[in-house]
Amino acid sequence: MDSERIVSILDILSRNYDKGAYPGRNSEGLNPEWPCDPFHVLIATILSQRTKDDNTRRASDNLFHAYGTMEAISEADVEHVSELVRPAGFPKQKAKAIVDCCRILIDEYDGEVPEDTDEMMKLPMVGRKTAACVRSYAMGIPSICVDTHVHRISNLMGLVSTKNPEETEFALMGITPKDRWIDVNRYMVRHGQEVCIPNHPRCHLCKVRQYCDGAKE
Ligand code: SF4
Repeated sequence: MDSERIVSILDILSRNYDKGAYPGRNSEGLNPEWPCDPFHVLIATILSQRTKDDNTRRASDNLFHAYGTMEAISEADVEHVSELVRPAGFPKQKAKAIVDCCRILIDEYDGEVPEDTDEMMKLPMVGRKTAACVRSYAMGIPSICVDTHVHRISNLMGLVSTKNPEETEFALMGITPKDRWIDVNRYMVRHGQEVCIPNHPRCHLCKVRQYCDGAKE
């Protein structure tokens, strides 16, 4: 059964990747470490869109060093923010979204990131993936955050057969026990970065190959 299969996969991956963390914080030995609260996770996840983890980390480090609070970012000059977040790419778009997000959160949500997915998705550059990431990592609300790694690997393994991340999210929710939803992103992303690398899966090193329909000799 697919639910038993995904639980076995998550169990094995959890023993190999004990330090899964929100976007930009997946590598070991990072310093400084920003809090895993809704504000920091939201901003880091916006920065993580269409870029690699190292770039997210550099951009979020720059930004949080210069502006440590939601209030400070809400009053920041967008041009300056765009210089700080340049390592993550799309600097103008991301800087404007981040400053606007902070202003909206302060003006309309008393400075709190809303828990509700639809409400969170009203914020600039916040889609289902970002909302699920904030809910699961920072709020402890069971959610499956489907990024490119999760979408790619779960299709490659034959756990789902879907065309886009949103379909993948719902398909995975259907086969994964709710108390393991957060683990899907936490461990599949690490697996995608270290073993099941895009276009070059290292199947000979893969600890979950016996559960994978796409395993290569
Ligand atoms: S066996 Fe290969 S394709 Fe399957 S999850 Fe492992 S690395 Fe990826």
